[in-house]
Amino acid sequence: MNHELPPGLHPDTLAVRAAVPRSPYGENSEALYLTSGYVQPSAEASARRFAGEEEGYTYGRTGNPTVSSLEQRLAAMEGTEACLATASGMSAIMLMCFGLLKAGDHVLFSQSVFGSTLKLIGSEFARFGVTSTTVPQADLAAWKAAIRPQTRLLFAETPTNPLTEVCDMAALAGLAQDAGAWLAVDNCFATPALQRPIEYGADIVIHSGTKYLDGQGRVMAGAICAPRQMITAQLLPVQKNAGMVLSPFNAWVVLKGLETLGLRMHAQSAQALALAQWLEAHPAVARVHYPGLPSHPQHALAMRQMGGVGGAVLAFDVKASSAEQARARAFHVLDSLRVLSLCTNLGDTKTLCAHPASTSHGKLAEEQRQAAGIGQGLIRVAVGLEHMQDIKDDLMRGFAGLERA
Ligand SMILES: *Cc1c(COP(=O)(O)O)cnc(C)c1O
Repeated sequence: MNHELPPGLHPDTLAVRAAVPRSPYGENSEALYLTSGYVQPSAEASARRFAGEEEGYTYGRTGNPTVSSLEQRLAAMEGTEACLATASGMSAIMLMCFGLLKAGDHVLFSQSVFGSTLKLIGSEFARFGVTSTTVPQADLAAWKAAIRPQTRLLFAETPTNPLTEVCDMAALAGLAQDAGAWLAVDNCFATPALQRPIEYGADIVIHSGTKYLDGQGRVMAGAICAPRQMITAQLLPVQKNAGMVLSPFNAWVVLKGLETLGLRMHAQSAQALALAQWLEAHPAVARVHYPGLPSHPQHALAMRQMGGVGGAVLAFDVKASSAEQARARAFHVLDSLRVLSLCTNLGDTKTLCAHPASTSHGKLAEEQRQAAGIGQGLIRVAVGLEHMQDIKDDLMRGFAGLERA
């Protein structure tokens, strides 16, 4: 409902402009409406709003204009009819499952999805009779073979954390369609600045707004971008009753973050490519995982799906002759950092480094970790906007003393 905007604007323009109409004060920057309740114009109007016969805000759990602005802007950028903002990325996934699934339904997803997603769908929803199967991210035959008559949802993440594995969204959309299931894609790593899953046939796009959408590591947020009918009929009623709403302040922060998303994603991806190339040539590094490198197993597919850009996250393995030595060396590199942050978040303008084997993947048994390709020498880098030489120098501080680690 951008009453003032003409139709047909480019997503880059909508990233800066899409919002609810200005208030009577004519503010140029979107207003932050910090209010939990709304004064009703009349008892009759109030009754119509509560009956769903008239648009209008009534209470903070059922809607807020600042949150609406974020929803309109993100939907425009993803190319979906509508969007529902949530308190975090995980609450977006919970709301999607709550709204779309029931006992007896089956979910099919990659074994490489975000750890909390794996636990939420695989364990928490299992308690309510929703079954699930995990398959290797890039093995299309395995996805196909695991589909059952009860399969209602295929859930993919591309690229994945931390190994940046890519999946073929168009192929998965075809499988989902044949099975009468929805395809949901977690677009956290690529963002709509690089990749719009809807264009490949996905039905639902999931976001952790905590990451690149905010982009400066300030707030938690999440979103579901989907067809309007799905949101109004299946998702909004659950959110209205269950909560998990996004705070207006956090919505406002992410709304402003979206204005620079394209610039940040391209600048940080260019930095990541430069760093990946440098790491790949460094004698202390055994292997670099980055979709923008020709050595990435799905480089061609990634470049096709992500507009020729590899994203801003990479991972690399420190060279070592045993798991113990690899861990000691990775820890040495991380403990030598004086500029980059040792921090498991991603999507910040600050470069963040993490050791997946002892953090996000720390609870897996060593064999499971090996199977997932998460070695003790693996370091994930979410590349920010510092000067490239300072980033390399900071990693070099750790590489310099490695023989003794
Ligand atoms: C961080 C993350 C999530 C969860 O988002 P939160 O905002 O932390 O709840 C989901 N998927 C991916 C790929 C993520 O990186």
